[in-house]
Amino acid sequence: MPDIPMVQAIGVSKRFGHIEVLKAIDLTIPRGEVACLLGPSGAGKSTFLRCINHLEKINEGELLVDGEFVGYREHGGKLYELHERHIARKRREIGMVFQHFNLFPHMTALQNTIEAPIRVNGETKAEAKKRALELLHRVGLSDKVDSYPAELSGGQQQRVAIARALAMQPKLMLFDEPTSALDPELVGEVLDVMRGLAKSGMTMIVVTHEMGFAREVADSVVFMADGMVVETGSPSALFDNPQHERTRSFLSKVL
Ligand code: ADP
Ligand code: MG
Repeated sequence: MPDIPMVQAIGVSKRFGHIEVLKAIDLTIPRGEVACLLGPSGAGKSTFLRCINHLEKINEGELLVDGEFVGYREHGGKLYELHERHIARKRREIGMVFQHFNLFPHMTALQNTIEAPIRVNGETKAEAKKRALELLHRVGLSDKVDSYPAELSGGQQQRVAIARALAMQPKLMLFDEPTSALDPELVGEVLDVMRGLAKSGMTMIVVTHEMGFAREVADSVVFMADGMVVETGSPSALFDNPQHERTRSFLSKVL
């Protein structure tokens, strides 16, 4: 069903103990679109991504990925908690890229990229390798397939991490500050790969401080603060004509 949004959050709340980290988040991300998530540290951006990726359980509201509940399944109009195995299966449909690339240090770029398709998806080594080589080519690393992470720059490592996530053929990609740990001169090569991925039609949620990227690539920009969505809009609406003081104040510091 093409008109089911890829991600739909309705009144999503998340608490850690007594602290409410997400407060009634409403957000819809249509299939094939790129949403950039902005906001100060502590706003709840990472927690929101972790909830979408089944790494945290929400306390209230409804969170759906591709029309299916995260953490729950519906049966006869009632919601039942998902079993761990089912959660693991749903998680495979979502790729995640972190600030720190989290590659396996004892594996080459190619080995990092084929590991999950073989171990988790049961692919043969030949088919996993074929796609991994295509993906490593796509992220510009055809000449680095046999290199270990320690032999690669931060930008190259992050591009391997993107290839590795794509190797699971996800329907949704989550990026949590993917360029924040990189030296400035290496940021562009990672953003280029993400730009290409967006053009290919991948649905993406990108937490970033790269306002140029957000303005150019995002279909929608979401400004979060204090666990709330303060404002959502097109890049030009949000950057050129922010409606809330909180947004204006944040943008004046980062732009
Ligand atoms: P952001 O990514 O926008 O910087 P986070 O989602 O990391 O924000 O954090 C939002 C708030 O939730 C912060 O106050 C943080 O300290 C708190 N928090 C995040 N993870 C946990 C956790 N596992 N246990 C307790 N508090 C947490
Ligand atoms: Mg964060």
